[in-house]
Amino acid sequence: MNQTASLVNHWMDLKDSFGMERMTTSPTPPDMALPPRPRKGEVKLNSMPWFHGKISRDKAEELLRPREDGLFLVRESTNFPGDYTLCVCWQGRVEHYRVIYKDNQLTIDEEEFFDNLSNLVEHYEKDADGLCTMLSKPLPKAGSQEYCVDVKAFLEAGWAIPPKDVEMLESLGKGEFGEVRLGMLRGEKVAVKVLKEQSKAAQKFLAEASLMTSIKHPNLVQLLGVVIEGKNIYLVTEYMSKGSLLEYLRSRGRLHVTKTDQINFAFDTCAGMVYLERRSIIHRDLAARNVLISEDGVAKVADFGLAWREEATTSESSDRKLPIKWTAPEALRKNKFSNKSDMWSFGILLWEIYSFGRVPYPRIQLNDVLRKVEHGYVMDAPEGCPPQVYELMKRAWNLNQDLRPTFHEVSILLGHLRGGTGGQKKSS
Ligand code: AMP
Repeated sequence: MNQTASLVNHWMDLKDSFGMERMTTSPTPPDMALPPRPRKGEVKLNSMPWFHGKISRDKAEELLRPREDGLFLVRESTNFPGDYTLCVCWQGRVEHYRVIYKDNQLTIDEEEFFDNLSNLVEHYEKDADGLCTMLSKPLPKAGSQEYCVDVKAFLEAGWAIPPKDVEMLESLGKGEFGEVRLGMLRGEKVAVKVLKEQSKAAQKFLAEASLMTSIKHPNLVQLLGVVIEGKNIYLVTEYMSKGSLLEYLRSRGRLHVTKTDQINFAFDTCAGMVYLERRSIIHRDLAARNVLISEDGVAKVADFGLAWREEATTSESSDRKLPIKWTAPEALRKNKFSNKSDMWSFGILLWEIYSFGRVPYPRIQLNDVLRKVEHGYVMDAPEGCPPQVYELMKRAWNLNQDLRPTFHEVSILLGHLRGGTGGQKKSS
């Protein structure tokens, strides 16, 4: 999906909305408090069950059976890369309409223009408008489906931050999508994830942002807003001054990271995961590198790039690179991700915390890890790890996912252990 392309148009909308904001908030009578900022709404992903990706014309014709009038799918054009083709059944035949990409928008007839494929399909579902027939029945793609995120939806839901409000400072690190920079937003430090124009990545990036609009918990890194500036998208989140848990553990090591710190990090992370578990959100990439530490030492789960709501989950595309040492066997073998596969990763994360950031499965070749694990291999307890914590790790690594504990259960156990070490209740 080429979503970024339409950002330039949205940018115009943005400017309008900022203009309005200024008009409505000023002037304020001195004796009247400013009205509270409107609550930000959740941004939903649009599913595109009818989008079949790069399949040939012949394959589309084979799939569109029986030839019911109005049965349709959309595919990526093989002849014109970057364009799409709308394939629709009519009177026993399949008509193929080229969807061209023009002036940052999509069009079939160069009369009606759309920001994205979802909008285009919605239009022709209501009215044939020059096509042989109205679109009446989508042919759903089997397996993993694509989603599209409407940039406008972020603006409408109140997540837009005017570019001039964010001052960009030094680099904090590099992530999957590009650089993460320190920023200043209205006098406060923030982290800014920068995405350079790249349509496919933009969709994933926005999917992460869209999921973040629905979550709010002291142990999950909070999205503050989205900046759209020309072709660039910036995701603004709270700033976690002590960086990633992995770096924290490695750089400070045994001398500085106390037993209390360890149990607090474990408890905080688990509390964030309980929140996701309750909402049936699967993280899929839980690891010490994806947990960040705030100025006051609170651990928060970050990096929702791979996370999906459970109802949106189908089998995952196989070209995705999975972190083998952190991923449950059933997820690696059968793409079966669940809160219980997150629990497996949490067990590995506990091992990372108690080994002060060592790479899991030391001295085992990456290619051998899965096979060994499936034959019952479990890592030894890290040196000095409390036996109750090691018991939790082993329960998290049960090959039978049903026998792994829930995050809720683990949070209660860690809460007790934390009491025992005198750990402070800081965050939840
Ligand atoms: P990511 O793209 O989320 O994997 O981030 C890459 C790196 O940028 C992390 O390992 C951190 O060092 C840094 N980083 C990401 N988000 C933040 C944040 N909210 N606050 C501080 N540093 C961050």
